[in-house]
Amino acid sequence: MFRGICKNMICPNAECPCHTDNKPGKVVTHGFYNSRAGKRRRYRCFICGKTFCSTKNTPYYRLQHRRSKFDEVAALSVEGVNKSAISRVKGIAWNTVHHWLEKAAESCGKFNCNKSKVMDIRELQADEIRTITGGKKTPVWIFAAMDIWSRYWPATVVGTRSFENTKKLFRAVSKQTNPQNVPLIMTDGFEFYKSASRRCFAKCLYAQVIKTRRKDRIIKVEKRMIIGSKNQIEKALQESDDSTTINTSFIERLNLTIRQSTAYLTRRTTCFSRFPEYLGNQLEILRGHYNFLRPHRALKFGNEKRTPAMQAGLSNQRYSFREVFTFCYILKILCEIKMKMESELQALPNAA
Ligand SMILES: [Zn+2]
Repeated sequence: MFRGICKNMICPNAECPCHTDNKPGKVVTHGFYNSRAGKRRRYRCFICGKTFCSTKNTPYYRLQHRRSKFDEVAALSVEGVNKSAISRVKGIAWNTVHHWLEKAAESCGKFNCNKSKVMDIRELQADEIRTITGGKKTPVWIFAAMDIWSRYWPATVVGTRSFENTKKLFRAVSKQTNPQNVPLIMTDGFEFYKSASRRCFAKCLYAQVIKTRRKDRIIKVEKRMIIGSKNQIEKALQESDDSTTINTSFIERLNLTIRQSTAYLTRRTTCFSRFPEYLGNQLEILRGHYNFLRPHRALKFGNEKRTPAMQAGLSNQRYSFREVFTFCYILKILCEIKMKMESELQALPNAA
């Protein structure tokens, strides 16, 4: 009767009663089915009786190719290869590549969102990248922020260069900041950073670097202390392991990484994104890759290769795309259970 209970699997059926107790061990193996790549195992929940395969709720579900091919497409896309080139190299249709990358982006988005926790941000830099989409008429801006100590990229916003978007970026970062810390924020001279940092952070120090250019050469660099006294900012810089003066070098280096890793953002490209959503999706994959998969050169300690997320204390291992894409499967179920339990808990006192 008990043909192999699967200890780690949870029933993916949202209406199954075993969802609420959050305990694996209700799933048994249930024969095989044939796919193009060969025999695949089938599973059955013995509470609700539903059968399912191991790829249910992952981007691999109903995939007509090998899973490794899907991972390779995602890996190529974060190395700055455009969709047409991927489709030629891998021998699959452009539409398939596009569809896969959308699924990968959704999966990475969930991973990024669920892995981000409150961390000690002491030094923060923010900047924008200008690019074009669709009609080429309105420029689109990519806002990015970076925690300098860990090189972690906590948030990014795609849209117009407005106060709303600046606030959105800082709000996303402040949610991940330990409220007891007073972060030192450094940006360029863009007007909205000052009020956005006042709004979003309870306490912060803020400084600007303003570069004046003439004929593509920087002729003057001006450093301004905006929020906080000179002593406070100097003390924060003394405590910093990375910066000795007010600067935006680290975020500018991240901008270069973003530009080189996204085919949409290469200069003078014909592969600009036709819709801002595509750009947002691609950046979601890239952010997951940068934070959790790719070892950072500045974080190399002897033979140990660390990712920004490891340095920030958000993970204790280097992930692979396979782990990111299958992670959501377990996660989605756990989130649903948590939400259900919370809503039940909230409903209890009202009922009483
Ligand atoms: Zn079930």
